[in-house]
Amino acid sequence: MRIVLLGPPGAGKGTQAEALIKKLFIPHISTGDMFRAAIKAATPLGLEAKEYMDMGLLVPDDVTIRIIRDRISQKDCQEGFILDGFPRTKAQAESFQAMLADRNEALSAVLNIVVPLDKLMVRLTGRRCCKKCGSIFHLLYNPPKEPETCDACGGELFQRKDDSEETVSRRLKVYEEETFPLIEFYKAKGLLRDIDGDQPISRVMVALGRSLGQDWS
Ligand code: ADP
Ligand code: AMP
Repeated sequence: MRIVLLGPPGAGKGTQAEALIKKLFIPHISTGDMFRAAIKAATPLGLEAKEYMDMGLLVPDDVTIRIIRDRISQKDCQEGFILDGFPRTKAQAESFQAMLADRNEALSAVLNIVVPLDKLMVRLTGRRCCKKCGSIFHLLYNPPKEPETCDACGGELFQRKDDSEETVSRRLKVYEEETFPLIEFYKAKGLLRDIDGDQPISRVMVALGRSLGQDWS
């Protein structure tokens, strides 16, 4: 199955992808995670991406398209993948379609997680992530059992630099301008399925399953 998770920053794409991989046994590919790993490793890609990410802007299309082309060529993607945070622009979506066509592959579905824009600021500024395993928490909506400690691995939780109020505002604006139009793009291809993301995390999961013909209730 080849799935794209679409939705604004804070919609719950990463949270749902963590759960989906346990059901579908295909890799979770997050371009944001790939850029953060490159920043941590201080690679040339990381140095370039950091400038854009810290400002809440998108990393240029050519760079982003290249890392996805390389990633989906890897062996673990043969049976499919869950894309989270890609594509984010029309140019990325068009290149991605061409990439899949070259490989004689097609997307199974684009799952659009719908959350009212006025809920996203609280979701993003309250987000905390594990330094070690990347698990995602929220101070109010999905708090860890022990403060600042990951339930999954005991790692320390941190707040992403781009989850500050000012950067979130910029990211939401960029979403509306660059990524929102992809809803129509995929609707026209008959691939889009809207999922109500404004409900508890476990119910969003059930709704995602239903849209894939699975009963996860
Ligand atoms: P995205 O990957 O789309 O940017 P995340 O999965 O990182 O979003 O979620 C953003 C924040 O919102 C996290 O702190 C997460 O715990 C929280 N969150 C995710 N889904 C829900 C939900 N259904 N209800 C409330 N909070 C949620
Ligand atoms: P995310 O982890 O999905 O919230 O992404 C964090 C940041 O990484 C974004 O604000 C962008 O700067 C960058 N990024 C992630 N995915 C993409 C993409 N597909 N295109 C351009 N920039 C991206």
